[in-house]
Amino acid sequence: FSRLKSGLEKTRKGITEKVDGILGSYKKIDEELFEDLEEALITADIGVNTTLDIIEKVKQKIKERKITEVNDIKDILKEEIREVLTQGDSNSKLNIEPSPAIILVVGVNGAGKTTTIGKLSSRLKQEGKKVMIAAGDTFRAAAIEQLDEWANRSGVEIISHQEGADPAAVIYDGIQSAKARKVDVLICDTAGRLHNKKNLMNELNKIFRVVEREYPEAKREVLLVVDATTGQNAVLQAKTFKEACDITGIVLTKLDGTAKGGVVVAVQSELNVPVKLVGVGESINDLQDFNAENFVNAIFD
Ligand code: GDP
Repeated sequence: FSRLKSGLEKTRKGITEKVDGILGSYKKIDEELFEDLEEALITADIGVNTTLDIIEKVKQKIKERKITEVNDIKDILKEEIREVLTQGDSNSKLNIEPSPAIILVVGVNGAGKTTTIGKLSSRLKQEGKKVMIAAGDTFRAAAIEQLDEWANRSGVEIISHQEGADPAAVIYDGIQSAKARKVDVLICDTAGRLHNKKNLMNELNKIFRVVEREYPEAKREVLLVVDATTGQNAVLQAKTFKEACDITGIVLTKLDGTAKGGVVVAVQSELNVPVKLVGVGESINDLQDFNAENFVNAIFD
């Protein structure tokens, strides 16, 4: 929790300081106060629709509970944000048990896919699982090399082809090796070129068909990696990917060092796909399971 809290320092400062400042400057609860709170949440990248929703519910609760103290608003706000994060499909646990399991990792270049795969493989290995990586992003030689380094660092096997090879062929090979070596979790990288949606869909569909045909017995996760520092753009990107394939979970990276951590709330509420993991740094142990309670406690003092 302390790592999460320090990672979310800037977001916490942005939200908590602003909210405290606002609540401290009002003597009674009125419309202007709510407008200020609205602005504070939108600035923290919680998203306009989600913010309006949250504030509306806060108003309702204040009325229902006949609250008149300005200071009591903070707890209600916290309660509502927690509720947004746990509504709908919010199961943040990875669906990888019992083995075998396959995790397809999708997302645009630069979002943090390679790093996330590295961190995740290391973590699953530490948990005692047999892990293998398939280097399905064959469009960039650098991506294959980087994954190789991560695989070495975490001590897991990696299947890769030459640059320019067919990504679906790499995944096919990965699946055959995973079966032969009784791997618990096969983590697959995919190409991250988002030049147009049709192209992306075709590429991902080809991979999905291979998985469906060759590994129907495996539990399946499709994790979309998005960069939290891009704020509302991350929400738009997630929407595009959701239309292109069946995402089962979202990984928000680079939450450390951004004040836009509120984007977690926007993604969860606008996509109804659970945030499963969060990246709070560049090192191997900086990938955490997402937990709504901890998140809210980390952004609100
Ligand atoms: P990819 O192109 O999607 O595979 O992206 P990479 O995994 O290569 O990551 C791009 C950059 O973001 C690298 O410099 C990573 O070290 C950095 N990065 C990834 N995840 C995090 C994170 O959670 N926190 C921070 N601070 N940096 C990250």
